[in-house]
Amino acid sequence: MLRKSASVAIATLAAAAIVACATSPTGRRQLMLVSEDQAISASKQAYVQSMGQLKSEGKLVTDPKLLARIERITERLVAQAVLMRPATGRWEWSVEVIDDPKTVNAWCMAGGRMAVYTGLILKIDPTDDELAQVMGHEISHALANHTAEKMSISMASQMGVIAAGIASDKPGQAMAMAAAAAQLAVQLPNSRTAEAEADRIGIELAAKAGYDPRAAATLWQKMGALGGGTPPQFLSTHPGPEHRQQELAKLAPQMQPLYAASGTPPTHPVLIGATATSARAGG
Ligand SMILES: [Zn+2]
Repeated sequence: MLRKSASVAIATLAAAAIVACATSPTGRRQLMLVSEDQAISASKQAYVQSMGQLKSEGKLVTDPKLLARIERITERLVAQAVLMRPATGRWEWSVEVIDDPKTVNAWCMAGGRMAVYTGLILKIDPTDDELAQVMGHEISHALANHTAEKMSISMASQMGVIAAGIASDKPGQAMAMAAAAAQLAVQLPNSRTAEAEADRIGIELAAKAGYDPRAAATLWQKMGALGGGTPPQFLSTHPGPEHRQQELAKLAPQMQPLYAASGTPPTHPVLIGATATSARAGG
């Protein structure tokens, strides 16, 4: 049964949904029910929890060579992300490599918390340029606030449940629901609009970080070729518009001057590996 306070809360949320429109870096209007700060704190909770679990199961990669490779690439990309959106310099940028050879996937939550699965490394066998395109694309989803957008969409679909949670004076429960929505957000497919946006920003970040823009098209070619009976997880969360490869191939020449001018690209510190997870759990 819906109490009066709950219906008032729903009406308030609905009104918030109408006014809470934000603008993405490419100028697109976004529905924002969850603020970016809320998405970041819910994502932190979800990340620390899921990485802590994986760590206890021994499923976080500790191989120094692989971690060093991921660190080198992400530190250069994050430096460009911070130049593009200076406020993200305060984010606790971090990355973990998950030992899961069957899963071809990578993601970046709100607030710059990333994960790469070993399946992506083993099955795609990406060059550094191609790996930089994957991570640049993922970082772009966070930079353009797509996590909060997806959380908003997932929460809007269960607005009644959340409103009831808020009205029942159980903020802890509301926070747990928000963390669940944050975890769900990286498992939900992105919209085609969000994909095009992340492709566009990602290839630019990578070019400025000194990674060949031509690798964007070859990366997606490799992803597509893996398809077969079991398409990679990455393709289910990143629906591939048929023209993605062609669009990226068209963008590459525009990005070439940025790549040529990248020189010795700057880096921004990124927490990496199991030690980063325990350091983070305290703060
Ligand atoms: Zn994507």
